[in-house]
Amino acid sequence: MPDILSANTTAVLLYGLPFLVFVAWHIARRRGNERKSTALLTQAIEAGLNEPASLHPVIDPNRCLSSMACVAACPEQAIGVIDGKAQLVNAASCIGHGACRTACPHDAIQLVFGTSKRGMDIPLVKPNFETNVPGIFIAGELGGMGLIRKAVEQGRQAMESVAKLKRGAFPYDVVIIGAGPAGISASLAAKEKSLKSVTVEQEDSIGGTVYHYPRNKVVMTAPVQLPIIGRMKFGEVSKERLLEFWKDVVKRTGIKINFFERMETVKPDGQGFVVRTSRQEYRTRSILLAMGRRGTPRKLGVKGEEQPKVVYRLVDPEQYRGQHVLVVGGGDSALEAAIDCADESGTTVTLSYRSEAFSRVKPKNREHLQRAEAARRLRVLLSSNVEEIAADSVALDQGGKKIRLRNDAVIVCAGGILPTPFLKGIGVQVETKYGTA
Ligand SMILES: Cc1cc2nc3c(=O)[nH]c(=O)nc-3n(C[C@H](O)[C@H](O)[C@H](O)COP(=O)(O)OP(=O)(O)OC[C@H]3O[C@@H](n4cnc5c(N)ncnc54)[C@H](O)[C@@H]3O)c2cc1C
Ligand code: SF4
Repeated sequence: MPDILSANTTAVLLYGLPFLVFVAWHIARRRGNERKSTALLTQAIEAGLNEPASLHPVIDPNRCLSSMACVAACPEQAIGVIDGKAQLVNAASCIGHGACRTACPHDAIQLVFGTSKRGMDIPLVKPNFETNVPGIFIAGELGGMGLIRKAVEQGRQAMESVAKLKRGAFPYDVVIIGAGPAGISASLAAKEKSLKSVTVEQEDSIGGTVYHYPRNKVVMTAPVQLPIIGRMKFGEVSKERLLEFWKDVVKRTGIKINFFERMETVKPDGQGFVVRTSRQEYRTRSILLAMGRRGTPRKLGVKGEEQPKVVYRLVDPEQYRGQHVLVVGGGDSALEAAIDCADESGTTVTLSYRSEAFSRVKPKNREHLQRAEAARRLRVLLSSNVEEIAADSVALDQGGKKIRLRNDAVIVCAGGILPTPFLKGIGVQVETKYGTA
């Protein structure tokens, strides 16, 4: 009898104890994850950043069995589990590529556009990527699909549809607007199909949104067919490597991209269109809008803004060493630009914002800003407006008080003018989605 008892005790110790330790570890880990998710959600709500920008997951709580597969699959740490159910805890960082939906073993996740609070405008596009306006095509993120691979595929397919159009007596068969993933792919396809085409890009570089990712961001994509080039084989790749690849593609193929040229208006012209840009006019049979959704940088509309010292994003903080810099805006990009410039030796940085508080910014940026201000590395002027930008100074108004600051550079981070009014203006039908697929 004692022998049997001791054999049982040994079995319990051998198998039961490790099992109990494993269960206790598993529960502790889950609780830790839940605490982290709750903290992230609270932070997002406090910062006013809990509304997703674009396509995003909604989770059916009745189907969710808390497998954690979506949490593990999300490369942006946007999704978490609270009270045993998955939910979007860091909505602002969700980029809508749907890895969470693919990973969910219980089919509990659906991807939708917009929310009940914030609608999202999606242009109506036919399967051949043509809009309701014959001759105007849309590819990539502007059409709602926010993925590099999809943008590349759509750019190529849209050009196949353009090539089927009856050509007219126009100098161009197609004008491509934008040199992000969709525009690059479309430009290659246009060359492959011997279309008379030109691509205009408002910025100074190819890559579109990819160019604006944080430094060294790991881009998650999948192999995709690029016209002329063949298969683009990347899975995970750094932003810098991907941009280098595209630059090399442009060089090798000689596709023509006009940088620093912004499309401003589109007018019908017989069977085609006149596209007016910041530089010239193009008469064309068709247009591909591959403009993404970030829009055109919002300007201040003040005297002196046309000077080259005024820019609309920070490229390299080092270039401002030893200079007097004014940053304008109250979002994360304005705060980050001001902090980065203030970190450079010898800079005198002022951040001007028209409201009385920074309400929709990441807590991390708010803290950095407060520290920099306390250390007198930069100055913040809330409730202030820029009135004039002169060659070596700027004039501001702060609640009726006139302020003039010495100035060498102005960085305006005042958001973008979204493309919806433009689309509606040229007759493209747009549907506002409030949390539907
Ligand atoms: C932070 C972040 C991370 C992401 N990470 C990933 C990822 O890991 N994997 C993934 O697949 N996707 C990711 N995405 C999404 C991906 O970047 C976009 O889906 C993709 O860039 C869309 O390509 P596009 O060519 O349609 O538009 P964009 O890349 O936005 O390019 C549009 C281009 O048009 C230009 N343009 C706009 N208006 C005009 C005008 N009037 N005149 C001339 N030019 C104009 C713009 O300057 C821009 O260069 C991420 C997005 C963000 C914001
Ligand atoms: S769509 Fe992508 S970024 Fe958004 S939660 Fe799912 S996996 Fe994360």
